[in-house]
Amino acid sequence: MKRPFVTGRQLEKIVRQFPTPFHLYDETGIRETARKLKAAFAWNPGFKEYFAVKANPNPAILKILREEGCGADCSSLTELMLADKCGFTGSEIMFSSNDTPAEEFQLAAKLGATINLDDFTHIDFLKDTIGTIPETISCRFNPGGLFTLGESAEGFQVMDNPGDSKYGFTKEQLFEGFKKLKAMGAKRFGIHAFLASNTLSNDYYPTLAGILFKLAVELERETGCHICFINLSGGVGIPYKPDQQANDIAVIGEGVRKQFEEILVPAGMGDVSICTELGRFMLGPNGCLVTKVLHFKHTYKEYVGVDACAANLMRPAMYGAYHHITVMGKEDAPCDHKYDVTGGLCENNDKFAIDRMLPEVEIGDLLVIHDTGAHGFSMGYNYNGRLRSAEVLLQADGSSRLIRRAETPEDYFATMLFED
Ligand SMILES: *Cc1c(COP(=O)(O)O)cnc(C)c1O
Repeated sequence: MKRPFVTGRQLEKIVRQFPTPFHLYDETGIRETARKLKAAFAWNPGFKEYFAVKANPNPAILKILREEGCGADCSSLTELMLADKCGFTGSEIMFSSNDTPAEEFQLAAKLGATINLDDFTHIDFLKDTIGTIPETISCRFNPGGLFTLGESAEGFQVMDNPGDSKYGFTKEQLFEGFKKLKAMGAKRFGIHAFLASNTLSNDYYPTLAGILFKLAVELERETGCHICFINLSGGVGIPYKPDQQANDIAVIGEGVRKQFEEILVPAGMGDVSICTELGRFMLGPNGCLVTKVLHFKHTYKEYVGVDACAANLMRPAMYGAYHHITVMGKEDAPCDHKYDVTGGLCENNDKFAIDRMLPEVEIGDLLVIHDTGAHGFSMGYNYNGRLRSAEVLLQADGSSRLIRRAETPEDYFATMLFED
């Protein structure tokens, strides 16, 4: 059974201070997650998590993560600017972008970020843009084909399709790229790959690590490039559904260590640092969307209309993603009513849940939509003139603090150009 990180009583107090809808984040949970990750990889002295800023670009959240020793993984100009404003400097910033505009490479280089190239042609583009090749450089690998894990009668535990994704160098390009970069002055090399998203398996990282470690040994032997870090990127998932089992990051860390000791250490590469760029795993369960029931509608189905909409949380509309819903104050009531929970966009996919069994809902009830801490607020948009919500932090001492105000109509009109 999934429980919100906030109690009904706490939430009633919070909504008296901040009107719904808003995303609420759990400082204690964020810090605990960061500490567990760090402990799981403590065997690797150079380990660093570069939090994927796109998952939750809020300065207060980034500050907490920085205090816990994390860096920032950016992929756009404004994400780089945000990381800079939040105090991340130099090698604390990873720049993993694709289809990159020149000005973004310029800013990344100026900040001293580690640049992770997405394509062979970006080598010359980077050189032409910033006039040099940085001494530390990374390349993103795409092995092509299908990536699968754990075949059983029910199918694969994990299946994703790198061969159909736009990211990364082919293996041949990677070898050529490393040679070219070395000839252009690069001295410290990294390899990056992101082969599957939201994996619920303790085997994803260890399997990926095995692939990248073997590749690193081959690359170092054939090109003479000194491989200093291997970036396992994002992709460690979270249990959105109540019957799913959470990953155990300690087991994952041990699994990676085993590969490290079997592959890298015997090759004399035991000095390689491991990096991660987790977004969802760090923040997903440590955030929720708080919304209030406005209306009921009885037609061919039973609808519950709430004051949030897909503009506040796009995942259900975009991916058909499941987000668990708790009706506050009715946590232990039987789920004997079937509803579609909808927002007010003029789009029929604006549904947080379809045919969801919930306790009987009343107008004014507070609903907690779970697991919105990553790729929640940040995927928000202004369709239908809907405004982005506030973000509130439930702090370690139990108090709550506004960490982003809600947009106002003035924000909506700010970019419009009216003819007198
Ligand atoms: C999105 C992204 C991540 C984070 O992915 P999660 O699924 O949130 O862990 C990490 N690295 C890169 C390059 C990404 O694009």
